[in-house]
Amino acid sequence: MKSKSIRKEDVNPNLLIYGKRLKDMNYTVQELSEILGVKPRYIREYLIGRKGAPVQPKANLKGQVFINGKELYEWAVEFHKKKLEKKEKNALKENEFLCCHCQKHVVPEAFSVEMSASGTPFRKAFCPICGSRINRYLKKKD
Ligand SMILES: [Zn+2]
Repeated sequence: MKSKSIRKEDVNPNLLIYGKRLKDMNYTVQELSEILGVKPRYIREYLIGRKGAPVQPKANLKGQVFINGKELYEWAVEFHKKKLEKKEKNALKENEFLCCHCQKHVVPEAFSVEMSASGTPFRKAFCPICGSRINRYLKKKD
C-alpha cells in the first residue's frame, strides 16, 4: 500500500519518456493524451487540476485548455526530480521512527521489539514530541 501511494504521487513515466517529443507549441489535452499515451482525464484532473501542471492562460472559445508541450515536459522532469529527492529525504535513518501524528522523523529514547500477529517483528516506541505510539517494522535484513 505504501509503495502504491509513492507511485501515485509521481508523474506517469510516459511523461518523461514521450514528453521529449513535445515541441514548444500549444497542445490540447486530447493531443497530449495521444502523444503521451495517457488518459485525457489523467492530464486534466490529475496533472492540471491537482498537481498544477502549467497551462496557457487563455482557453479557446470552446473552453479548451492549451498546454505548451515543452513547458509540460520540463515541469514533469522537475516534478519527478523533486519526488525522488523527497523519497530520499523520507528514508528513515537507523534509529528514526516516523510519527504519523507529528508527520516527522523522530528519535525515541527507547524502544522495544515486538512481534505482530502475522509474525513480523517491529519496534515499538513513543514519540518524544507528542507521546503517540510509534511503530517501525523491520526489514528482513535488520
Ligand atoms: Zn509525534
